[in-house]
Amino acid sequence: MSILVVGSVAFDNITTPSGRADNVLGGSGTYFALAASYFTDVRVVAVVGEDFTAEHENVLKKRGVDTRGIERAKGKTFRWGGKYLDNLNEAKTDFTELNVFEKFQPRIPAEYKDSEFLFLGNIHPTLQSAVRLELSDVKLTGGDTMNFWIQGANSELRETLKVVNVLLINDGEAKMLANEPSLPRAARKVLAMGPQALVIKHGEYGATIFFREGAFGIGSHPFRAPALPIEEVKDPTGAGDSFAGGFMGYIASQPELNREVIKRALFYGGVMGSFAVERFGTERLQSLTRNEIDARFQVFRELTHLG
Ligand code: AMP
Repeated sequence: MSILVVGSVAFDNITTPSGRADNVLGGSGTYFALAASYFTDVRVVAVVGEDFTAEHENVLKKRGVDTRGIERAKGKTFRWGGKYLDNLNEAKTDFTELNVFEKFQPRIPAEYKDSEFLFLGNIHPTLQSAVRLELSDVKLTGGDTMNFWIQGANSELRETLKVVNVLLINDGEAKMLANEPSLPRAARKVLAMGPQALVIKHGEYGATIFFREGAFGIGSHPFRAPALPIEEVKDPTGAGDSFAGGFMGYIASQPELNREVIKRALFYGGVMGSFAVERFGTERLQSLTRNEIDARFQVFRELTHLG
């Protein structure tokens, strides 16, 4: 099985209580691809500028990620700067420079057209929809977004939500999107916009999945998975995308989609998110082993198992 991800490939300037890192490789597509690469084949559609070197590309290639869909354009790669203050679950954006994303028209290589799974990483919703429309064989589409697009491209985002099966966003974004302070009510409203399932990430407190009645034939009870308490969160950037990579990657690696698979996928999402935050940028995600991942999955199990 293979997952195609479209998302940002970026250079980030990040400040956290643990320190600062400038010009580090990041972006929603990068974090997602690295995390998902431990579970299944991953293909990336994105755009980068002239400042993106072979060394940067090798970070993905070393994990076996197919980078033929990364277009090189004239100009600078997307850049994002943000800081985390006392609340590590919430980034304050310092700047967003779209750069080469401004004129990007996603092109899907012919070799990618048979992708069974699709993840629409956090980029302009119009680009997300364009990619979905080009892939007719997709079995399951996951998607992400953020306040920048909820506020800046709301009607386009509403269109994208009609073609997303599972939306993964954090609590603040869900409330903003639904314009509703109660989380369960916000979830119901977001599900009415299109997705069959909604994963709401609560940062260091885990994630909850809500289902539309009858979605995937598995009923509608929500399910909550914990996050692993990490003593020192060095850099929360990419936790959400890594969560999505673990979640979607695990689903793609399984022969069928049922409630058990979705529950485990939520745990694997938490596992990948917890690794991502242990070091700045993508460093920790570059050199994991499947054994380390499965060992942490066991820790998550024990954290919650009632026996
Ligand atoms: P997260 O998993 O939500 O922490 O995602 C962090 C990544 O999202 C960073 O590496 C940024 O480069 C990227 N990012 C931030 N803002 C945007 C945006 N408006 N569009 C696309 N990517 C973004």
